[in-house]
Amino acid sequence: MTSARTRARLVERLRAQGISNEEVLGIMGHIPRHEFIDEALSHKAYDDTALPIGFGQTISQPYIVARMSELAAAVPERKLALEIGTGCGYQTMVLSKLFKTVHSIERIGGLVRNTRERLSRLGVHNARLRHADGSGGLPDLAPFNVILITAAAPIVPENLISQLADGGRLIFPVGSQEQELRMIERQGDDFLESRLEKVLFVPLLPGVA
Ligand code: SAH
Repeated sequence: MTSARTRARLVERLRAQGISNEEVLGIMGHIPRHEFIDEALSHKAYDDTALPIGFGQTISQPYIVARMSELAAAVPERKLALEIGTGCGYQTMVLSKLFKTVHSIERIGGLVRNTRERLSRLGVHNARLRHADGSGGLPDLAPFNVILITAAAPIVPENLISQLADGGRLIFPVGSQEQELRMIERQGDDFLESRLEKVLFVPLLPGVA
C-alpha cells in the first residue's frame, strides 16, 4: 500500500493527467507521501485526493502539487523559493528537491512543529519553516525565484509581486467559492498574468493559531 510500486502508479496517473516534467515526476515517485498523513489513512496516501492532516487542514491532491511544482521548476534560476501554507510539508519537500533553499510559512503552530520534525526525519535540510501569517511574504529575504501559495486568497496578492526576482513566478489560487490557479511571471519591469485552471484550496486566513 505504501510501496515503490504504489508510487509508480501515482506517477503513471500524473502522466496521464498531463504532467510531463520528468524531474517533478521522479521526485514525486520517491517521496513517501504516506509519511505526511495520519497512519489510519495511509491506505489512501497515493490516491489522487486531498486528505486531512489535522487542525482542519488538508494535504493537497498530488495532481495539483505536481502542476504547481512543474510551473515552479521552469524558472530560469532555482535558488530561493517561498511557500505560503506549509501544512504537512509535502509540497515543501518537493520544492526542497528543486530549489537550493526553501522558506515556508505556516500560521498554525501545531502543524509547524509536526512538519519540522517530519522533514528533519526525512532528511530535508534546506527548508526553513516559520510560524507566522505568510500573507505579507518575507520582504527581508526577497527576491524569490518562486513564490507558491497553497491557500486561496479572495483577491490577487499583488503585495507579493515586488518580492519576485527577475524571471520569477508567483503561483497561487485565487477566489472564494470558485477558485482558479493563476501565475504572475516577472520579466524585468513587466508582470505577465496567466489564468490556468479551476482548483479547490483551503482559505488563506489572517493571523496565527
Ligand atoms: N502545501 C500544503 C497544503 C496545506 S493546506 C501541503 O502539501 O500539505 C494550506 C495551509 O495554508 C494550511 O496548513 C493553512 O493553515 C495554511 N495557511 C492558511 N492561511 C495562511 C497564512 N496567512 N499564512 C500561512 N499559512 C497559512
